[in-house]
Amino acid sequence: MVMKDEKLETIYQDVLRRNPGEVEFHQAAREVLESVGPVLAKYPEFRERKIIERIIEPERQIIFRVPWQDDKGEVHVNRGFRVQYNSALGPYKGGLRFHPSVYLGIIKFLGFEQIFKNALTGLPIGGGKGGSDFDPKGKSDDEIMRFCQSFMTELWRYIGEHTDVPAGDIGVGGREIGYLYGQFKRLTSRYEAGVLTGKGLDYGGSLVRTEATGYGATFFVEEMLKVRKDSFDGKRCVVSGSGNVAIYTVEKIHQLGGKVVACSDSNGYIFDEKGIDLELVKQLKERERRRIKDYVEYRKHARYVDGGNIWEIPCQVAMPSATQNEINGKDAALLVKNGCIAVGEGANMPTTPEGIQVFLQAGIAYGPGKAANAGGVATSALEMQQNASRDSWTFEYTEKRLANIMKNIHQTCFETAEEFGAKGNYVVGANIAGFIKVAKAMVAHGLI
Ligand code: GLU
Repeated sequence: MVMKDEKLETIYQDVLRRNPGEVEFHQAAREVLESVGPVLAKYPEFRERKIIERIIEPERQIIFRVPWQDDKGEVHVNRGFRVQYNSALGPYKGGLRFHPSVYLGIIKFLGFEQIFKNALTGLPIGGGKGGSDFDPKGKSDDEIMRFCQSFMTELWRYIGEHTDVPAGDIGVGGREIGYLYGQFKRLTSRYEAGVLTGKGLDYGGSLVRTEATGYGATFFVEEMLKVRKDSFDGKRCVVSGSGNVAIYTVEKIHQLGGKVVACSDSNGYIFDEKGIDLELVKQLKERERRRIKDYVEYRKHARYVDGGNIWEIPCQVAMPSATQNEINGKDAALLVKNGCIAVGEGANMPTTPEGIQVFLQAGIAYGPGKAANAGGVATSALEMQQNASRDSWTFEYTEKRLANIMKNIHQTCFETAEEFGAKGNYVVGANIAGFIKVAKAMVAHGLI
């Protein structure tokens, strides 16, 4: 499909030509380009100053070798990435993903989305992302530590509390951040807590950071439901994934009176009509690092479907919290047919362009990841604030800040969509609101 705006289509063709094979990046770039046409009409200076052409090109991309030894002494070589995408609003900020699917195109799609997500939080953070094609699955603690140390041995020279602040993403949680932080401290001889977020509570981490992405996504859906004079109370929900985002999405949905009946991992899904037993999922996934299929060993009435498609389970609220492109056009159509009224994305870009069209055409409440899952990075910015003032806030206070931020993001997206003639379309609202904020700062900074 060719874009309506000829100039934007030319820019997109250029993106394809200059970034061959990076399909996820093409997808993320296209979605934003398709939204920003009306902005250029309102702000001709953005076109004159070539803001789109500049925003789409990362400020800096770092690719490096990560050699490490496994427990048997065998040598392995992985590839490390850090894409410092945009620093108009603050130091580069965004997570690290350790997963075998990682290559430059994945990191660029994530980094690009991060720019607009971070802008939407209203906090002073630019956009970046990094990671490695390292597979943490089945590795011992020592192997993870050696890998993280090797990764940081190269990365440390590019990061800092005022330059670039990495955090977690898929495959990178508290354990990995701890090893990365230890190695950074050793290499620099500096106790610079603000260089990483998602730290442990004993050494500068923030309360609520662990829960933040899932809680935030749930707050966002709650806001979308409120607009429709509805709530989570009594709603049947499906949350894909069973990692950090999924776990705390389930927790908050249950607190708000909803019932989550299914969650998953990359092998299959579990279905529990009585409602997912979250303590059991936490035990299996957070403490014992096991697979979700083991759930049925402890809950005999539940069902595990190996290789099954979780979106075939009828639900009123769906919260994809696993990975990119996990909902295609067919899945979206099935969800709508089965009575789904709201979708909130805990993962980054979990719905394909075809799936998004299905949700928008059905008129359901659809909260795209860059708005709905911004609570994680927003709470990272709160962790940076606490580090900068050598303070630590209570759980209640931090959660209140998070809830407020999500409310504001929702309102900004809702109002922006309406202003630009797309009422109820949070994709347009999020893309335009995030874009305008970054673009204005870029114009102010001159041609750099
Ligand atoms: N990886 C998360 C995201 O996709 C959080 C990044 C952060 O806290 O910096 O937004």
